[in-house]
Amino acid sequence: MAIEEQIVSMDKLVALCKRRGFVFGSSELYGGLSGFWDYGPLGVELKQNIKRAWWRANVHLRDDVVGLESALIMPSAIWAASGHLQNFNDPLVECQSCKRRFRADDLEGATVCPQCGGPLSEARQFNTMFQTQVGPVADEGSIAYLRPETAQGTFVNFKNVLQSTPHKIPFGIAQIGKSFRNEITTGNFIFRSREFEQMELEFFVKPGTDDEWFDYWRDERMRWWTHDIGIRPQNIRLRDHAVSELSHYSKQTSDFEYRYPFGTRELEGVADRTDFDLKAHMAGSGIDLTYYDDETQERYVPYVIEPAVGVDRTFLVVLLDAYDEEQTGPKPSDRRTVLRLKSQLAPYKVAVFPLVANKPDLVARARSIYATLKPEMMVAWDSIGNVGKRYRRQDEVGTPWCVTVDYQTLEDSTVTVRDRDTMTQERHPVVGLSDLFRERLVAG
Ligand code: ATP
Repeated sequence: MAIEEQIVSMDKLVALCKRRGFVFGSSELYGGLSGFWDYGPLGVELKQNIKRAWWRANVHLRDDVVGLESALIMPSAIWAASGHLQNFNDPLVECQSCKRRFRADDLEGATVCPQCGGPLSEARQFNTMFQTQVGPVADEGSIAYLRPETAQGTFVNFKNVLQSTPHKIPFGIAQIGKSFRNEITTGNFIFRSREFEQMELEFFVKPGTDDEWFDYWRDERMRWWTHDIGIRPQNIRLRDHAVSELSHYSKQTSDFEYRYPFGTRELEGVADRTDFDLKAHMAGSGIDLTYYDDETQERYVPYVIEPAVGVDRTFLVVLLDAYDEEQTGPKPSDRRTVLRLKSQLAPYKVAVFPLVANKPDLVARARSIYATLKPEMMVAWDSIGNVGKRYRRQDEVGTPWCVTVDYQTLEDSTVTVRDRDTMTQERHPVVGLSDLFRERLVAG
């Protein structure tokens, strides 16, 4: 059983991620680039499964949300209109001795440097957008920015989506994609980085119904975290922002906070962005973005409820919540590390082994089972070391089921199916294995 109160240390998790190919430091060959990460073979699988789970819940299973993928670079005019050029700032303080820089709000009012004890400067505002230039001529008109959120790409496409789909308000536009912020303080592994991915939903509603929809989305997102993703409820909570914390566009915001090993911090924000953004783009572009409601014959600028979460932060939380260590017998070496991932999120769903690697008939039978399962789901093949070692390796990356082909398989066409969480082993006929795993995957 998972130890309810156990919280894995970050060091252990980072080591596991590197050892098993989930996450690597970016540009490591050249000394690394702070705030950037690369996802390895198992990391990309987990990331895709997280995005799929979000897309399925927020787009495919709903009648009132559609998807969008907008460009990552957009001109300064958009960022001027949205308020990001003026407001997307973090308060920065610098140590006057060691010259290190910190986000003032991370220091909670301290006046001496947490690294060297030197005096800190007054806070100054630092814009965290990455600027670039589009085209060969470097002039005012060529300045553009890498987006710090996906949301603005959605707002500037509001009219396109409305005109090209049959949707009426209330409806939403979902987007998953990269965002970039030149964060002052990165750290805590992938918690806050400079290049990251977001999953954001802009849900357009009639003004006056926004409080109701705000509550709806808070509940729906909590359901997703605890039910679809399987986060333990005691590790996640909702916290309402104080008025002084609100972003420049928000009327009310609630954060989902997670109990990380380094403290309880934000995981996702749900904000009532009001009509701020659409009005800002109407003013900035001169294009009418009002909505005409045929039924009530009213024209208005919709309000927006936005649940926004990072893929990378979700990735971190999924691993932290799933990580477990367990004593499996009396000897100190009888210990296993296991990722108790939901089966839909696990990089590999099934691992197939021949009992021993030097018996060609066992290997051939196992290979054929592997080949049958492979088009249906992600399957691992492992024939190195003894079966016990292979189980440990699969436990450590969260593979829910292992199939072992042994001598009995050659006689009666049954295999051993071993369960990651309970470690129980049952015999199942080879025929029907795909159906068995598919049913288990659907059941979660
Ligand atoms: P932070 O906790 O870093 O201060 P924020 O309040 O600036 O985040 P939002 O602007 O609300 O974040 O962005 C929505 C979500 O996007 C966050 O809840 C988080 O999951 C993710 N996110 C934001 N910034 C980063 C980042 N630098 N690295 C990774 N994920 C991020």
